[in-house]
Amino acid sequence: MALTQEERISGGLWGLLIGDALGVPYEFHSPHDLPPLSQLEMQPPLYFERSHEQIPIGTWSDDGAQVLILLASLQRHNELNLEDFGKGLVDWYESGYMAVGSHVFDVGIQTAEAIRLMMQGVPAQEAGPKSEYKNGNGSLMRVLPLALWHRGTDEELVKWAHLQSQVTHGHLRSKVCCAVYCLWARRLLAGSTYAWAEAVKILHGIYGDASPEWAEFAWHVRPDQEPTGSGSGYVVDSLNSVRKVMQASTYEQVVKQAIALGHDTDTTACIAGGLAGIRDGVEAIPTRWMQVLRGQELVKLLLAKLLQTKSDKA
Ligand SMILES: [Mg+2]
Repeated sequence: MALTQEERISGGLWGLLIGDALGVPYEFHSPHDLPPLSQLEMQPPLYFERSHEQIPIGTWSDDGAQVLILLASLQRHNELNLEDFGKGLVDWYESGYMAVGSHVFDVGIQTAEAIRLMMQGVPAQEAGPKSEYKNGNGSLMRVLPLALWHRGTDEELVKWAHLQSQVTHGHLRSKVCCAVYCLWARRLLAGSTYAWAEAVKILHGIYGDASPEWAEFAWHVRPDQEPTGSGSGYVVDSLNSVRKVMQASTYEQVVKQAIALGHDTDTTACIAGGLAGIRDGVEAIPTRWMQVLRGQELVKLLLAKLLQTKSDKA
């Protein structure tokens, strides 16, 4: 039976939060140091030296917190308000807004740089570093709420995906990755089997053949090639890692394979987990993982409102 929009939207939000939390203990490890797939669980095997040892099992990191900040801001303003979103990031950094137990950890270097600029009074729209060497996956990891919430045109979704990135990641490469990811999520929400290829085609139509945006996307992401990714924190590698693991047929296998790539495990599993959750629906997320996810009280109202808004607009 076809999945409902509610099942896909809930799957997307829980799927990314659980992917993030599942990946936290394995972060920074190279793939050959990781336990086998069957043992990649919230609680790693006892012999494994886990990262963030002081963080309780089942805790999302910066990725999950920033996703909730974006979602709350969209709901508060009924549009993408960059100043409000930027303020949310500052509140997270300073006092743990949307972090489980208000405890902030795993802060990205580039995001911290932008947040400090905003704290000094730089407008959110100008805070993100624009250098080519500042293309970490920090804006891609948190952009999914835009696709879950948005009901306007594809053009507007792409424009807002760019703006969302700009607050911390101002280079065009980060922006185009956020844009294709949102379109990909939107096609998955529609139940498409060829969601990636369709998203690329739509993006091509919006950017136009001769645009710098399309050149940046086509040249660096190589959308027609078989994806290869190594689970690193570089936005293009991250996106292509997600393309690769999305070939697995279940939510569980997608996030486990994302973590098995090693390195930026929580973020790869977060970005992939959001999409796999949309594709496979909330029921596909293993109950044993849902049961240990901390901070669920921070999610429930936002999710209820998201599902409500979707049915109002439908
Ligand atoms: Mg993280």
